[in-house]
Amino acid sequence: AALELGPAWQHGFAQLGPAFFTELRPTPLPDPHLVSVNRRLAADLGLDADRLAGSDAVAAFTGNQALQGARPLASVYSGHQFGVWAGQLGDGRAILLGGIATPQGVQELQLKGAGRTPYSRMGDGRAVLRSSIREYLCSAAMHGLGVPTTRALVVTGSPQPVRREEVETAAVVTRVAPSFVRFGHFEHFSARGQLDELRQLADYVIDTFYPHCRAPDRLGGNPYAALLEEVTLRTAAMVAQWQAVGFCHGVMNTDNMSILGLTIDYGPFQFLDAFVPTQICNHSDETGRYAFNRQPNVAYWNLFCLGQALFPLIGDEELALAALEPYKAAFPRELEARMRAKLGLASEKSGDRQLVEQILSLLAAGPVDYPIFWRRLSRFAAGGDLAAVRDLFLDRAGFDGWVAQYEARLADEAGEPGARMLAANPKYVLRNHLCELAIRQAKLGDFSEVETLLSLVQSPFEEHPDHDDRAGFPPDWATHIEISCSS
Ligand code: AMP
Ligand code: MG
Ligand code: MG
Repeated sequence: AALELGPAWQHGFAQLGPAFFTELRPTPLPDPHLVSVNRRLAADLGLDADRLAGSDAVAAFTGNQALQGARPLASVYSGHQFGVWAGQLGDGRAILLGGIATPQGVQELQLKGAGRTPYSRMGDGRAVLRSSIREYLCSAAMHGLGVPTTRALVVTGSPQPVRREEVETAAVVTRVAPSFVRFGHFEHFSARGQLDELRQLADYVIDTFYPHCRAPDRLGGNPYAALLEEVTLRTAAMVAQWQAVGFCHGVMNTDNMSILGLTIDYGPFQFLDAFVPTQICNHSDETGRYAFNRQPNVAYWNLFCLGQALFPLIGDEELALAALEPYKAAFPRELEARMRAKLGLASEKSGDRQLVEQILSLLAAGPVDYPIFWRRLSRFAAGGDLAAVRDLFLDRAGFDGWVAQYEARLADEAGEPGARMLAANPKYVLRNHLCELAIRQAKLGDFSEVETLLSLVQSPFEEHPDHDDRAGFPPDWATHIEISCSS
């Protein structure tokens, strides 16, 4: 029997009409098998995880069997890649099935790696098992850390060979988000002078996700300027969270920027091990355009591209600039709030920013392992050992000076800062080498490490004492892992 996900499919995006997409079916893959189901996400969506692991579901989520009520399509978008206008792109390997009504509101499902589309260009329409596992685990990790993100419900695999740097095998990730609309969707219609479609898309996004943008008192009653401002604020908040958790996205092209401020398109991402602000996680990024410490500026640059795309609708340069302007205050405010939480500071004091800046420069000077520093500092604040933190620094005098100020600052805090810190600084982080080990096993048909990592990153602040070995320093070989755009 064909899998049904309930009667209530909602095809808001499909209703935009054929200028926005091509309807097509996924291309089947031979002998599909289940890699993993995210049971927690299934529960959030009100779906029965056991059914999602069954053979009908595996066939459906591989794209081999139609999902009743789905309306599969690939959408068209454009974008700036590495700062250069790339023209038309689009869902080259992702197929949108439509939205389902869930306890979390309408959620769209998308099959990534489901075969070629009219927007595949030179690509094969496929995704490999390696990159599919990375996306599946990382989106779960980001969600576990409280960072806005697309999510991933299922990964299925197939023995079908897929050629990358070497021959790998195919997989399909079922992604979930309220919408997969990107900055690049707006750039597409704007660049082509298709202003009716541009307006239709903006109205759809406003009416569906940002209805308050129609409030008459916002930005001169201009809903398109208000939309730009909303996206600006959400993007600032998202990137502030990336910086605080030590996440480097790796490919912040405008076609990889969500109009909802969700982290999307997990490719060569990396969670920092040692705190190296200039870390470049994408092996193909020769100039370091998307280095960790450049992310906040790149996000702003990308928002300018969105502003440019929306300009024909906004119609007033001052309004467009006024909608972008809040980034400059929102980003540092959001980052400071996140860093204050990492330090256990519930109250706000004037020296806090300096305390943050000083510890970050001490961490960079090491460089000191970023997750381990914060977790050890949390344990110290919760009544543990200072030596375990101090041992991380070569510059002991520098650290002693900082920690004296920090302890004085903590003394002003009410409640239990240590307990708050243990709930803000994860013990388990999806480091590159952990992913790599899970992928190596998965390639041999053993998905148990994928399951273990999934459960750890979904509750990363808990101790999970049986898995301490996944909370340690990276091995030496971790620094030699090269992650490119190839996925
Ligand atoms: P990315 O750099 O991953 O954001 O991809 C940029 C564009 O290339 C997007 O339009 C993707 O859909 C497309 N793309 C990436 N990989 C493939 C592939 N293997 N087959 C077809 N299209 C692809
Ligand atoms: Mg992309
Ligand atoms: Mg991608």
